Amino acid sequence: MSTVNQRTPGKTRSCPHCRATILESANVCPGCRHHVRSGASSSESVFPSFTALKVDGTIKPPAADQVWEYSMVVSIRNERGEEVARQIVGVGALAASETRTFTLAVEVFKPEGR
Ligand SMILES: [Zn+2]
Repeated sequence: MSTVNQRTPGKTRSCPHCRATILESANVCPGCRHHVRSGASSSESVFPSFTALKVDGTIKPPAADQVWEYSMVVSIRNERGEEVARQIVGVGALAASETRTFTLAVEVFKPEGR
């Protein structure tokens, strides 16, 4: 008996909890962090192999009598500089007593045995 255990890299599905588009191979939704059943036929765990990029930044509060509005936008470009994805992650306002810290992380999955 032989079973074909071949994944299509980059294949996606919808998280049953938050409806975000996630990798079919994911065991944990990177958005809502709920455990999801792997779409793969094997029982091997698929967690991020490493974090390829992580950036943190904090916006300090504006002057006392000001309010700032912000939009956090993330985009992905391919090797030719073409934008393949663009999404507004969140918007809001920032008053003098407030700060916001933004974190961007790119998690890479490397199937075992490759
Ligand atoms: Zn989710």
